[in-house]
Amino acid sequence: MSKSLVILGGGESGVGAAILGKDKGFDVFLSDAGRLSDHYRSVLEEEGIEFEEGAHSMERLLAADEVVKSPGIPLDAPAVTAIREKGIPVISEIELAGRYTRAKMVCITGSNGKTTTTLLTYHILRSAGVNVGLAGNVGKSLAYQVSRCDYDVYVIELSSFQLDNMYDFKANIAVILNITPDHLDRYDHRMENYVKAKFRILQNLTPHDAFIYWQDDPVIRRQLAQITTEARLFPFAEHREEGTAAWVSDDDATLCIDTPEQSLRMPRADLSLNGLHNLYNSMAAALSACILEINKDAIRKALSDFEGVEHRLEPCGTVDGVRYINDSKATNVNSTWYALESMPKNTILILGGKDKGNDYSEILPLVKEKVKAIVCMGKDNQKLLDFFTGQVDEIADTHSLKEAVDTCHRLAKPGDTVLLSPCCASFDLFKSYEDRGRQFKAAVAALPSEA
Ligand code: ADP
Repeated sequence: MSKSLVILGGGESGVGAAILGKDKGFDVFLSDAGRLSDHYRSVLEEEGIEFEEGAHSMERLLAADEVVKSPGIPLDAPAVTAIREKGIPVISEIELAGRYTRAKMVCITGSNGKTTTTLLTYHILRSAGVNVGLAGNVGKSLAYQVSRCDYDVYVIELSSFQLDNMYDFKANIAVILNITPDHLDRYDHRMENYVKAKFRILQNLTPHDAFIYWQDDPVIRRQLAQITTEARLFPFAEHREEGTAAWVSDDDATLCIDTPEQSLRMPRADLSLNGLHNLYNSMAAALSACILEINKDAIRKALSDFEGVEHRLEPCGTVDGVRYINDSKATNVNSTWYALESMPKNTILILGGKDKGNDYSEILPLVKEKVKAIVCMGKDNQKLLDFFTGQVDEIADTHSLKEAVDTCHRLAKPGDTVLLSPCCASFDLFKSYEDRGRQFKAAVAALPSEA
């Protein structure tokens, strides 16, 4: 009799796991307590995979030999608790997929910069002619691709939720970009649990595998001192220290990468992505490519012609000599810090939205140095107004995107920069950060130009 595989959750990863399970001969049943999207419902129907939605049939779930849990479902959800109490193994979609492929895995995690670094790494490998797939939080699920495609290498973005429930999976190259507090509600409000989840990316690495990480991150350093790993270490940093594998030269002009497989030098000014955070992201991506022995010229070219990722410091036009930049994905203080770090003086900053308990003092020095006006854009701007009034020459209170962009247009002089990097979630006025970013771009495109 074939083994019974139950899939919890019918999104991209769950449906991908169901397809892989079916292809590998499991008796598959997918269960989602909510509603499936029309797309995934019709995929399951076409594939002939049994499923239910709106509730879990616990009897059926508890008869499983193994359960694949989607990353969005908390570990302490009642159905998951019951399954675990019965001793049924609960794994992630990535864990399942890893069993059925011999492709090389480049796995990228961190609190900020995952998507950018994943897409940049993928861009380098693809441009160099590697038969490479893109998976994880972006694009098609790894399970689906393992079952229906035939890639030699995968670049995978892994959130800490995806890393939960991974046991035997093994990366060939593991990357941790940085660790700052995030999603602590899912980790008993204990930072150490969140850090441990991120470090699961290192499990099972052998001396043939590589660990790439940000050398100056105090959290990564502390954790690394407490664990043992057999992997080869490739730290990156702005300034070279002992063991640094990627850094910039003392005159700040040259990006340097040294690995046993490949060394590379290129002008920092040729990197297509700007800002210190993107220097780190570029270093991490270039290190992976060097370790995979990609041709140097191909790496240099791809680092300089990468088009960037929508809503991440995305240039969206110049109107009357004023540059407009969409960084709508900056939903926490740390990411806005990095956005401001890469801005020139005379920036007009649009801040605001749903505040997640932000402490704005972290960005105050950069605001004082670079920001001439703050335009608050949210349902309730009181906290921002209280904090920043008196710290910048001008502060405005607006409650819609159009009002905010019109105010920026009025305040800006040729040579200024308008930056949407809100520090906050978008849900007070928008459907999502993508919606906020798209509306911003449309409002900028609709501005009347004097020219
Ligand atoms: P993630 O996928 O981890 O959420 P993204 O690549 O989508 O990360 O970037 C989200 C935001 O985080 C960007 O708008 C940018 O301002 C900021 N960011 C990107 N890379 C880094 C980094 N290496 N360190 C800190 N902040 C970063």
